[in-house]
Amino acid sequence: MVAGFRSLKEIRVRLQEECHSEWNIIALGEWNKATIGKLLWNLSEKKDKKWFKWMHIYYLKNGVIEEYQPNNNSSWLMKSMCKHKAELMSNDIWVEFQANNMYSTRRMYQHLRGDKPRVDWRRLMYINMARPRAVFTLWLVCQDRLQTKDRLMKHGTYTDGNCLFCDVQENRCHLFFECAITKKIWKEILNRLGLGYIHIDWNEHTAWQQAKGKGNKMRIFKAALAETVYHIWWVRTRICFQQGRKEELQSQHIHDILMDRFRMNRKLTAYCNSL
Ligand SMILES: [Zn+2]
Repeated sequence: MVAGFRSLKEIRVRLQEECHSEWNIIALGEWNKATIGKLLWNLSEKKDKKWFKWMHIYYLKNGVIEEYQPNNNSSWLMKSMCKHKAELMSNDIWVEFQANNMYSTRRMYQHLRGDKPRVDWRRLMYINMARPRAVFTLWLVCQDRLQTKDRLMKHGTYTDGNCLFCDVQENRCHLFFECAITKKIWKEILNRLGLGYIHIDWNEHTAWQQAKGKGNKMRIFKAALAETVYHIWWVRTRICFQQGRKEELQSQHIHDILMDRFRMNRKLTAYCNSL
């Protein structure tokens, strides 16, 4: 079970309530509804496409979607459109789309979700070229969901509470950004990538402020952040459970993985080779 949750039901409820804002995940229920809205829009506006023409001939019999009632022979898609048409088509934003003669799935989704604040660290996740497992670990760090020793103690698990790289108390900020050993790795990797060392203070939001803007440096920084966080956590877990050694923490290893990932992008590879 995911840390901090008692049941799958609790995870589902939290996902529905908070995913767009606190967890920076798209709420699939609302997103699906917004995409169904796009089909409804095309049907109601009689867009000149074969599928919509066929739908008009086969189902609507040249009537309108607003008045169509599904029966047992209707497809699941038609039933789904009919289920949501009242909510979507009576929406204020639908009138706005009609005035502009254009439907926007994104705007409909935002309207259905309501006005919820977005998390500051969302930029770290967008188009991050690190491995998915590294991006996921970074996402857990953003949520403070990794089982660092301070969290284990909070949940009543016996532990000495000390960092496995030095002897200071382990928590998210210390382990990933303030520990003397992991800070050395940050310095090495950021210097090798031509970014120069930036002190990352998680509480001061320097990590995501760094990810503002566009360009090669920003893309490299986001991937480096995810892969370094992942490598630190991987070595820490090996020391804890598999008799690993702190010497396994190597900036060379992170650098090799990043170069391999950047190979997918010709411009980025050329930039890295020029360093
Ligand atoms: Zn430490």
